[in-house]
Amino acid sequence: MKTETTLREEVVTAARLLKESGMLFRGEHANLSQRLDDRHILMTRGGSIGHLMPEDLAVVDLEGRVVSQEPMDPTMQEVIQMHTRVYRARSSVGAVIHTHAPHLTVFAVAQKAIPIVYEPLLRFGLTEEVPVVPWAPRGSNQSVDAIVQWVEEHPGVWAVLMANHGALVFHDDIVSTARLLATLDEAAELVLQAELLGGAKPLPAAAVDAVRERMALFGSRR
Ligand SMILES: [Zn+2]
Repeated sequence: MKTETTLREEVVTAARLLKESGMLFRGEHANLSQRLDDRHILMTRGGSIGHLMPEDLAVVDLEGRVVSQEPMDPTMQEVIQMHTRVYRARSSVGAVIHTHAPHLTVFAVAQKAIPIVYEPLLRFGLTEEVPVVPWAPRGSNQSVDAIVQWVEEHPGVWAVLMANHGALVFHDDIVSTARLLATLDEAAELVLQAELLGGAKPLPAAAVDAVRERMALFGSRR
């Protein structure tokens, strides 16, 4: 069991990974959260995470109530449910990140799903395309209901595009979620570039099982 101090430091590490890998668009806007225990998460308190510190995180319960004393930016209050309801919908989710990553957001504004044509995504357990949820104000019930429906009904979906806005990615822990986000942004860039060469081609139908077998053989997590 990790301590709260370690979990806070992991969120800071993930924020640095996002910044260093170019996943924060010019505004450096993002919100990150990670499970603290079975009823609480740690969540960023402000909208810009370019220089995140361990104390810049609030403790929020899974019903969306802020239980720590530090003030939370009103723009973050707006999106709490977008995080907490994903944890409630899928017990294996350990972290959630929302950003406007540059290539993912191209697909979001074009309202185009991202096909799974890039092998590294299979290693994160993504077996279905990254869907687009219809536009609605950020954090609204309409927006969050649409996201949660994908989380509940599609176990091979670990990320959604929010139409005309950005991406929401969720995975085992905050560092793996940051890595998945960067890998998805690579995939989005590759799919765009492949258009110049006639478009990306699908993976073989047997690819998911073949990759899982290889990973098991070598004891790889991804
Ligand atoms: Zn946003």
